[in-house]
Amino acid sequence: MSAPVGGNKPVDAGTRVGANTPVVAIVGRPNVGKSTLFNALTRGAGAITSNEPGTTRDWLEGTADLEGTGITVVDTCGWGMKTELGILMDESLSAVLAKADLAIFAVSAREPLQEDEMRLVALLRKSSLPMLLVCNKCDSPGDDAASWEFARLGLGAALPISALRRRNLAELTGRMSQLIAAGPRETGEDRPGLACVMLGQPNVGKSSIFNTLLGYRRSLVHSEPGTTRDPVKASMGKGKDKWEIVDTAGVVRRWKHAHGALVRDASSRGLRHLKGADVVALVLDATVPLGRQDLRLAQEAVGGGAGIAVALNKCDLLPPSDVVRLRAEAPPFLAKRFPDVGRFPMLPCSAVTGESMADLKAAVIELARLRRIRIPADELADLAFKWPTSGRSWRVRQTGAAPLVFAVDGPSGVHLGPRFVVNRIRDKFGLHGVPLLVKLWRDGKEFR
Ligand code: GDP
Ligand code: GDP
Repeated sequence: MSAPVGGNKPVDAGTRVGANTPVVAIVGRPNVGKSTLFNALTRGAGAITSNEPGTTRDWLEGTADLEGTGITVVDTCGWGMKTELGILMDESLSAVLAKADLAIFAVSAREPLQEDEMRLVALLRKSSLPMLLVCNKCDSPGDDAASWEFARLGLGAALPISALRRRNLAELTGRMSQLIAAGPRETGEDRPGLACVMLGQPNVGKSSIFNTLLGYRRSLVHSEPGTTRDPVKASMGKGKDKWEIVDTAGVVRRWKHAHGALVRDASSRGLRHLKGADVVALVLDATVPLGRQDLRLAQEAVGGGAGIAVALNKCDLLPPSDVVRLRAEAPPFLAKRFPDVGRFPMLPCSAVTGESMADLKAAVIELARLRRIRIPADELADLAFKWPTSGRSWRVRQTGAAPLVFAVDGPSGVHLGPRFVVNRIRDKFGLHGVPLLVKLWRDGKEFR
């Protein structure tokens, strides 16, 4: 972003906000960091920042530069002072939102999802205003896991940012320009049905999670390893909201006799089901150290092209300090081993207490959506604009969805590794938790 534009001033709700430039409204509860984000985007000091809920009042308007375009940013400040929803969506807030081209819905990684937030989103969703969910106060990668909880808001995965530390702000502005360019979103639910497979070693709690998500006992739960004899298939919901969950038998190394020798049974029952899966929920027992078999299962899931969510189950058996440590340490540990899926949701949870079960469900839904996403050709064209070139420019096309496949045709003489390309696509479009396959072409011929 370029330099600040000064002159931040309170906006009268009755006046036309930013008549000639796109308007981005920052909404959210008090204290989530809206003013701080406003300041970070406008690089001004127009809004008051304070720890006291509600000390910022009225709207504040500032100007920012968004990848070369001037935009107006509005901090909607104090709606949360008022608890009644009728007042909360008072006329002046509605007036600002009516003029906005994009709403940034800000939540805080330091607090759980609040009822007020659910209600405000439910109201906003009735309009066609595009919305971008950001989870603020993710000051370091260890805080990012907290952002998955907010997928329950139904606005997609939250982008983890830190307004204070200016973390991920470039990714934020990139998404802002995409959403503004895409224009009003279609209203109504467009969520597809999905197939989710639960994978994990015996006794980690797959059946229990499955039963908790499904709401009734379908799969046998028993504390003896390997009690789930066969994959149990069940579905929940209807129409587009239909889920299919396959609770696999604990996938342990299986061997079979073939040609007089013992060979690994590649089609062991659990893994066979990975084929049709949109998302694999890998269930790990949080009370035991991660083993080689767990890593192998995660590898199978990633290799199968499915999105991956990790449930760290049985957290009720751990002291809270261990859960905090797990939340901070497990994501970077696994992310390093599985760089091919980006940041994937990892949720400390408990099938017994129900802790984070709704978050797990929301994360799975979001991954299935990402895995089927179709990115408009012009947005992909913009992506490669600044890549190194020897004259002829790069061409990026999406050639498949579910799983996501991209073809990248580049000029000869310039080498870009597949990892570079994958990371650019992933970051630009927020495709975290799902594998991306990139086919590199050179002068019209596939070479990798
Ligand atoms: P608002 O009421 O939503 O406008 O929230 P403010 O911007 O006034 O921020 C509330 C508190 O959260 C202040 O103490 C900020 O310093 C703090 N805060 C804002 N953004 C961040 C962040 O990214 N990380 C951390 N750790 N604190 C933040
Ligand atoms: P599966 O073999 O992976 O399907 O595991 P099960 O769902 O059959 O669970 C194995 C054992 O762990 C059972 O005794 C469950 O009651 C227990 N269990 C499952 N989830 C939890 C949990 O979140 N907390 C605790 N304390 N026990 C759990």
